[in-house]
Amino acid sequence: MNILIINAGSSSLKYQLMDPETGVVSAKGLCERIGIDGRLNHKVGENKVTKDIPMPTHSEAIAATLAILQDAECGVIKSVDEIDAVGHRVLHGGMEFFDSCIINDEVIAAIKKCIPLGPLHNPANLMGIEACQAVMPTTPQVAVFDTAFHMTMPPKAYRYAIPTEYYENDSIRRYGFHGTSHKYVAKRTAQLVGKTEFKMVNCHLGNGSSMSAVKDGKCQDTTMGLTPLAGVPMGTRSGDIDAAVVQFICNKYGMSVDECLNMLNKKSGMLAMSGVSSDFRDLEDGANNGNEDCALARAKFCYEVAKYVGAYAAALNGIDVLTFTAGVGENDSAVRADVCEYLGFLGVKIDPELNKKRGKEMMISTPDSKVQVWVVPTNEELMIAQDTAELVNAAK
Ligand code: AMP
Repeated sequence: MNILIINAGSSSLKYQLMDPETGVVSAKGLCERIGIDGRLNHKVGENKVTKDIPMPTHSEAIAATLAILQDAECGVIKSVDEIDAVGHRVLHGGMEFFDSCIINDEVIAAIKKCIPLGPLHNPANLMGIEACQAVMPTTPQVAVFDTAFHMTMPPKAYRYAIPTEYYENDSIRRYGFHGTSHKYVAKRTAQLVGKTEFKMVNCHLGNGSSMSAVKDGKCQDTTMGLTPLAGVPMGTRSGDIDAAVVQFICNKYGMSVDECLNMLNKKSGMLAMSGVSSDFRDLEDGANNGNEDCALARAKFCYEVAKYVGAYAAALNGIDVLTFTAGVGENDSAVRADVCEYLGFLGVKIDPELNKKRGKEMMISTPDSKVQVWVVPTNEELMIAQDTAELVNAAK
C-alpha cells in the first residue's frame, strides 16, 4: 500500500510516500516558498533534486509533488492511481475530533470550526486538504490531529480553573499537542514491554517539548495546553508561566498582548536563558566550556521535566515505564541522565553505559530499576500512515 503523507504549513508543504506496513519511505520532500515563488526539494534514497517551480498556492505545490512522484527520472510511481490514500497532519481538532477520520464535507466544516484554536495552522492544513481533493478527487483522504490522542484526559486534567463560560462558550481548556508522536510512542512501548496495561510517562523532548501521562495506552494528562506554549520550557518557548507576568511586561514596556506572547513563544526558553542558542547541542558545548547561563538553562530544563514526571507519577499512582523521544530525548544522554537522577525516589535506575547510546530504540534502565526506562525514537509519519491505512481498509 502507498500512503501519501502531507504536512501543510502556511508557506510550505512536506510530503512522504510510505508503505504503512513496513514503514519504508519511497520518496519524500518539501515544497517551500509557497505564495512567494516556489521551490521543490525531493529525495529518493540518497538522491536529492531541487527545482524552482512557481507555486502561487498550495494547489501548485500538490501538483508539483504529484508530478515529481511520477517523474521518469526521480519518480517512484507511474500513476497517481498507485497512491491508495492521503494522510494529512492537522494541528487542532478542538473538541470535535477524538481520533483520526476520513475526510468528508462535515469533517472539513469541523476543521474550519477549530480555526480560532489553531489560527495559523488549521487554515494551512485545510489548503493542503482542498488542493489534494481537487487533483485526486477519488483518492480517500484522512485527517490525523495533533490533539486527538489527548482527548481521553479526564475533566480534572483538561479544565482550567477559570469561569466556566470560557469553557462552555469558547472551548478554552487544555488540549495538548504532539499527540501523534505520543500515540506512536505509547503504542510502540506497549509492543516493546509486551503488555497493554501499564502506566507510563512519555517525554517528547525536542525543540518543542511536551510530556504525557498514559494509562493502558490512553492519555490521562499532558503538559501543553490550549496552545503549545504551556508545560516545560522549550527551545524558544517559556513553558508554564504566571499569567500575571504578561500583564506586568505589557504595562511596563508598552507591549501589546500579541507582542508579549510572541516574545514568550519565540524569544524565551533555552534561547533566552542561555543567551546563546535554542539548540541543546550548543547549550552542552557552552556548559562544557564554562558558560554558566548555558548550564543553568539545561539545569532548568531537566528540573522541570523531572518535576512533571513526579507530578504524573502521583496522578497515575505510580509508573511502570518512562520513555524519552524526539531530538533531545533520543540523542541527549546527559539530559536523560540528569532527569533520571531526580527520580531515584521512584526507584528509577539507569545504566550509564546503555544511556550513552543515542538515537536507537533501547531500554536504558538497570534490571533492578522499579521503572523501565526506554528511548523510543518517534515516527509521526508512520503513525499517520498507519491510521490512514486502517481507516481506509475498514471503509472498503
Ligand atoms: P526536534 O524538535 O525533535 O527535531 O529536536 C530538535 C532538537 O534536538 C535540536 O534543537 C537539538 O537541540 C536536539 N538534538 C538533535 N540532535 C542532538 C544530539 N545529537 N545531541 C543533543 N541534542 C540533539
